Amino acid sequence: MQLDMLIGQKSLVCQLKKIINEDRVGHAYSFSGPAGAGKRTVALAFAKELLCSECGKVAGCLSCKTFQEGTNPDFYEVVTEKQSIGVDCIRTLQEDVANRPTYGNRKVYFIDRAELMTIQAQNCLLKTLEEPPEYAVILLSTTSFEAMLPTIRSRTVNFRINPYSDAEMRKILNPLYAIPDNEMEFILKFSRGIPGNAIHMIEEGTVRDIRQLVFQLLEKPDNIHIAEEIRKHLRENKGEVSTALDILMSLYRDCLMVSTGMENRLINSDKKDMIKKIAKAYSKRKLLDKTDALEKLRRNFEYNINTQLGIDILLMEIQEV
Ligand SMILES: [Zn+2]
Repeated sequence: MQLDMLIGQKSLVCQLKKIINEDRVGHAYSFSGPAGAGKRTVALAFAKELLCSECGKVAGCLSCKTFQEGTNPDFYEVVTEKQSIGVDCIRTLQEDVANRPTYGNRKVYFIDRAELMTIQAQNCLLKTLEEPPEYAVILLSTTSFEAMLPTIRSRTVNFRINPYSDAEMRKILNPLYAIPDNEMEFILKFSRGIPGNAIHMIEEGTVRDIRQLVFQLLEKPDNIHIAEEIRKHLRENKGEVSTALDILMSLYRDCLMVSTGMENRLINSDKKDMIKKIAKAYSKRKLLDKTDALEKLRRNFEYNINTQLGIDILLMEIQEV
């Protein structure tokens, strides 16, 4: 993938190309953003272009070809199967830094999920950042640039990966999956512009399952079997609590749409009758209050309140609609 072929991230791509074209390549860059935002894709495209020396002149230069095949000797990626990136990984990287490039005048080192680096590993990497050979470029991808040692941060130019627009998300997802329109609307709305979230939602089928359950309970709030099934599902898949919250919020959002006469823009358009009924029963003020309450609940989950209690509150919210 070339930088030009990336979907979205226009301003970032522009900056990266400028760095290369104006020959102002520094020694350390970081790409930060939430998991699934596409940090790795951007970093690899940048790496490929940093290493390419001749594509302008020769179509598909040796560096690009081998990069594509994963055999470019001037590209080095730190790979770990452990839960952390230890000092040994960085030492091995440094042994490679000592050797000059094979093809061009650069070597690129990529540390994916750099937030997994231990303090010792970061301190060790610092030695390379302090006195890098002129050919070495180190790329990091991290969910948390701020969590890295200040000494690393001060020597690294950090780029944030921005969320993708709905149109860009469609461009990314459409070639990969055949999704009914209805579901896609929902997925776009709740993946928050992060492709990894959308892919997770699609591949796990989580949205479909939990959405079905939530709507079943909305229709039959007294059915303890459905309530129990949701409780069990969320207990086993804590990550989906946020999806369940999203579903409920999308319902209130749709009710507000109906109240303001925008019926044709519903996320849950297949549940129009129910939405109309709820919209009639509540004032706009009340719908906004309910949305606020869910936002608060979401924050509580983020700050790790008792999950059990949180799930119970969420179920009550559904049963009381
Ligand atoms: Zn090339």
